[in-house]
Amino acid sequence: MALKLHPSIDNGVRKGNPNFAGGALTCKCADHPVQVRITGNVAHNHACGCTKCWKPQGAVFSVVAVVSRDNLKVVSGAEKLHVVDASATIQRHACRDCGVHMYGRIENANHPFYGLDFVHTELSNEQGWQEPQFAAFVSSIIESGFPPAKMGEVRAQLRSIGLEPYDCLSPPLMDAIASHVAKAAGKLAA
Ligand SMILES: [Zn+2]
Ligand SMILES: [Zn+2]
Repeated sequence: MALKLHPSIDNGVRKGNPNFAGGALTCKCADHPVQVRITGNVAHNHACGCTKCWKPQGAVFSVVAVVSRDNLKVVSGAEKLHVVDASATIQRHACRDCGVHMYGRIENANHPFYGLDFVHTELSNEQGWQEPQFAAFVSSIIESGFPPAKMGEVRAQLRSIGLEPYDCLSPPLMDAIASHVAKAAGKLAA
């Protein structure tokens, strides 16, 4: 691979197990790490180019998925968590010591994605998590300083590993958001 985009996709995408029962996410602290337990598999796993998602050192993209908030539980180190930006739509709960985002939660009950938490399955040692399905907010990597002239190369590389690049979310997710807005406005039957 010509470009290093993210460690979990630089050697291709490894398929997950649809029947995976879930596992634990652990922050990078050697001492008293924060641990979060997830019941069941994640959904909508994807590479994200936005500037807000946590990514490992040197990565151009984050890899982020969603899980029902009812299926996520902080099992240790809760006292080390803090919200990175309280004004953001997604409240990203990060470890104060190592900086890793353990989960992002939407607290606005009217938001289309209310009820879902955002998580990074690379924080788990277990195999079987759903593999990344697409790449979102690809153009946004430029906002972090990525050279615009290399964007063609980035999109070609993403396609070569089966991740269709989008500059917002994927069409099904954009349609879901628009449908939610239309229902709230009475333009579509709820
Ligand atoms: Zn930590
Ligand atoms: Zn993002």
